Amino acid sequence: SLEVDDVSHHFDIDGKPLPVLDRVSLNARPGEFVALLGPSGCGKSTLLRLVAGLEPPRSGRLLEDGRPITGPNPSRVVVFQDPTLFPWRTVWKNVALGLEAQGIIKSERHRVDAALQLVGLSGFANAYPHQLSGGMAQRVSLARALVNDPDILILDEPLGKLDSLTRLSMQTEIVSLWQRNGFTTLLVTHDVEEALFLAQRVVVFSERPAKLKADIPVDLPYPRHRGDPVLADLRR
Ligand code: ATP
Ligand code: MG
Repeated sequence: SLEVDDVSHHFDIDGKPLPVLDRVSLNARPGEFVALLGPSGCGKSTLLRLVAGLEPPRSGRLLEDGRPITGPNPSRVVVFQDPTLFPWRTVWKNVALGLEAQGIIKSERHRVDAALQLVGLSGFANAYPHQLSGGMAQRVSLARALVNDPDILILDEPLGKLDSLTRLSMQTEIVSLWQRNGFTTLLVTHDVEEALFLAQRVVVFSERPAKLKADIPVDLPYPRHRGDPVLADLRR
């Protein structure tokens, strides 16, 4: 489980504090899918970086399964909006970087093949990033996260820059990956419909500094589809 307990955070800009998170508390049960919505610049990515352990909060606590989050860990991986692939490495080697970063030995490398299969890119193992579409590159990024078999998958607007058809197909893929693998998932998105389509709960933040405004269960059965009458009803 993931527990964010009364977390506040600020940055120092020109010697002045810039408040970014204001006493945020939120929990995610093991395997729960939570979407985070809020105005641009309110502090969502900052919260995700704290959850990933990339920096410590100024106050409050973050816990994974009851243990304090003190740094990055392969059990918590982030996929960012822009896929950061090394252009001189093949798809396979870009995904393997996820393992190498953890110092994982060669015998574990079948996990790279498994991760590529999960995102439907087995046939592109030897391709280079410039040979991929935007959606495929984002899938490679996702595979690099999945190769570590995370407990918590952190998605920071991963589909934000994709065209709408690719986005739709990747939304469906993310749901099915989540259903099959059961990781706790945090998704930041600007797309309300996407949040309702994918998540079991939607958390809404205020303008910066992000403060919890709403924490709403989305009580819809899976599978959901656009055009689904329940979803259509929710949008009205
Ligand atoms: P968006 O929806 O546009 O991605 P966000 O909700 O993810 O926005 P953050 O990236 O968390 O917002 O940024 C929140 C605020 O913190 C912004 O005002 C930003 O300028 C500031 N900020 C973020 N990272 C840093 C940093 N490393 N140093 C200083 N200020 C930062
Ligand atoms: Mg952001």
